[in-house]
Amino acid sequence: MLETGSEYPRYVTPGFKPFDPVKLARETEKIVTRIRNGRCERKYTAFYATGVYGGIATGYAVGCCLRCVFCWVGWSRDFPEKLGRFYSPEQAFEKLREAAHKYRVNKLRISGAEPTLGKDHLLSLLEYVEDSEFPLFILETNGILFGVDKDYVRRISRFEKVHVRVSLKAGTPEAFAKKTGAIPESFEIPFKAIENLLDYGVSFHVAAMSLDPRIMTPEERASLIKRLAEIDVNLLLNLEEEIIDPYETTLARLKLAGFKLKWPLREVYTPIRDIVMEPEKEK
Ligand code: SF4
Repeated sequence: MLETGSEYPRYVTPGFKPFDPVKLARETEKIVTRIRNGRCERKYTAFYATGVYGGIATGYAVGCCLRCVFCWVGWSRDFPEKLGRFYSPEQAFEKLREAAHKYRVNKLRISGAEPTLGKDHLLSLLEYVEDSEFPLFILETNGILFGVDKDYVRRISRFEKVHVRVSLKAGTPEAFAKKTGAIPESFEIPFKAIENLLDYGVSFHVAAMSLDPRIMTPEERASLIKRLAEIDVNLLLNLEEEIIDPYETTLARLKLAGFKLKWPLREVYTPIRDIVMEPEKEK
């Protein structure tokens, strides 16, 4: 079903057949990684720095194992065979270092894709980061591979400079399928990733597209929050809740998927962190 060709999932459309995200991860890895001279090379389209996280050098990688309807990243997500060029872990690190020095920032990350695709590439890249002058690498992930490969999380836990950001997309299996294109059975995988990260004591926090009532009902949000609390209620203290940003690619994907959202966004939910950490009122 997932051979690269007409069956390879690109973007969600009405009537889209849900895919297995683990199988899609493996199929996408065949496109975006390759072995050269014993090293796992991965495709990237650019290296630069942005203002997020107070300034961070960013490698814009290619390929993901979900197809979120609100995804902002470029079309390299949907057509990974057409865009980007291969870099070894050392070359990717040198390009990140170059961007960091040019823009005078000291944090690093991979964006534009799912960074955990290409396990050997990422682990080798992190070896360079660990030995470098840079204090922090932010690893943004959808949690699919960390949920099914506990050994991957164990190996990530060896790196002291890595902070993981796990991004949840939905609060119920049905909503997960509708918003990511993946089979509803895979809804639990990112929560398993969170459990694995806790088990290995990795520095991490959870983000969720849960502040935007246009894409998440109050019931779905409550379900997501409850599921996180079942794992560890402390996760809610650092929950980073997001709203959809109207990037050109986001608007195009929402339209292709048949979602009709009103802009601008008029109301957002109160972030859980603000509710949980509200100071006690004077009696
Ligand atoms: S939002 Fe993230 S996880 Fe979802 S498709 Fe885009 S890159 Fe992949």
